[in-house]
Amino acid sequence: MGHYCRICGRTRPNERFSGKGHKTHVCKECARLPKEQRLAIERMEDIWGFMNQSHISKKNLTALREWAESDDAEVAKLARLVIEVSEVKPHKRRRLQVLSEKRPDLLERLEETGLIDAHHRF
Ligand SMILES: [Zn+2]
Repeated sequence: MGHYCRICGRTRPNERFSGKGHKTHVCKECARLPKEQRLAIERMEDIWGFMNQSHISKKNLTALREWAESDDAEVAKLARLVIEVSEVKPHKRRRLQVLSEKRPDLLERLEETGLIDAHHRF
């Protein structure tokens, strides 16, 4: 029986987690990462999550707008991309179809960044 680490996404043996790490779902190895790096990983996970939701909410957009100003270039890039996608098609249903008709450039960027996989993930 292992325990899930929400940073590296691995299920690891219990001894790989401190008491606090158990509660926060962060393994010892990931707990040693710089805070900015951990935060960036978490934000990427959130951004992927937003793409996989049935619809990108106003609350999601508030977070995305903040992250679009992030010092982490990758987080900022993905956040800006998802904001643009939501402006065309906030709902997941038929999103790729609509993008391919109206904004093929955005669809291309989703492919480049790998975010298209987030859209497909169930
Ligand atoms: Zn970990």
